[in-house]
Amino acid sequence: MAVAEKATVLRAQGTDIVDFGAGEPDFDTPEPIKNAAAEAMRRGATKYTAVGGTDALKTAIVTKLRRDNGLTYEKREVLASCGGKHSLFLAFQALFNPGDEVIVPAPYWVSYPDMLLLAGAEPRIVRTTEESGFKLSPEGLGAAITTRTRAIILNSPSNPTGSAYDERELAPIADIIARHNLITISDDVYEMMVYGGLRRAHVLQLRPELRDRTLVVNSVSKSYAMTGWRIGYTAAPAEVIKAMSTLQGQMTSNPSSVAQAAAVQALAGPQDSVTLMVREFERRAEFVFERLRAIPNLRCLKPQGAFYAFPEVSAYLNRTVNGTELKTGDDLAAYLIDSAHVAVVGGSDFGAPDHIRISYATSLENLERGLDRIDGALRKLA
Ligand code: PLP
Repeated sequence: MAVAEKATVLRAQGTDIVDFGAGEPDFDTPEPIKNAAAEAMRRGATKYTAVGGTDALKTAIVTKLRRDNGLTYEKREVLASCGGKHSLFLAFQALFNPGDEVIVPAPYWVSYPDMLLLAGAEPRIVRTTEESGFKLSPEGLGAAITTRTRAIILNSPSNPTGSAYDERELAPIADIIARHNLITISDDVYEMMVYGGLRRAHVLQLRPELRDRTLVVNSVSKSYAMTGWRIGYTAAPAEVIKAMSTLQGQMTSNPSSVAQAAAVQALAGPQDSVTLMVREFERRAEFVFERLRAIPNLRCLKPQGAFYAFPEVSAYLNRTVNGTELKTGDDLAAYLIDSAHVAVVGGSDFGAPDHIRISYATSLENLERGLDRIDGALRKLA
């Protein structure tokens, strides 16, 4: 947020900022989806709906889960909420009590630990490293489990690391989950953005018997460039959905009726816009990776999914520049915005202070300009 604020100030002063901070696709919401919203408004779908979403949206979610994920759910086992973020918030509130421990692999999406704390649960951070592709090892996971461990959060592809589990990597994790009877919260919001022919694995495809203790959380935000519409959803056993729905009923009631109509079109309509967007992200991922790899001593994994690169920058830390000490990736992010006018996000809030996150949800032209600047600014530090 600090870098974003600085970027706004500098931009207002007329400085040309290249922004690699975005956590959302740069594409516009596809036209048929916007048309569905406009049509919904015209036909008067502007009133409250059922708390957990319209029948049409629940049908579209059930159909999508079967079509894309091979998962079978009934309408009473799904709930639409105001974004995947609210889905996760409700899930944590419904599931956890004070003293419960929840495994959060690091680097993690910034909101998980705080949302868990708000639910009274204890985030149990389990570090992963570049060497393991930022994926949990069975040993690392096993060592973190205590008698109080209730659940694990899996986010693949991951924000911020861009890594995604294949079957070989996820199967031993699923075994441990089964052995310890853990609840799995599978955050699938980046599921469509997978590159290089990787076959992304899902815990429920590997172990269907975990269905009774798994929550599938997803959203139209990233897949359909609909971050502002605020529609997310959860598929889970009916009693969990019921508890989440009770909470939602006192928090937001239904998510926006018009946005729900748009989400029906997104989930049930033609999927060609997703394919085009993902193809473009893949081109950018290749480009960003090649450019980052060419910068001396920057360690960066090849992105497997989502739209982030997450280089390790410690070779450029622990020095003083213009009187300011660069201790963490956050300090380096501040240096990059000040001296090179590129906005990136420091890694501390993702649980990885030696990293910066570069979003490639921006044009190839911007990527080229921004990476030239980063390259130049880092070489000055070398
Ligand atoms: N999960 C992850 C990993 C995310 O990165 C985000 C958004 O940045 C979300 C969930 C929530 O997205 P939304 O609330 O827009 O559906």
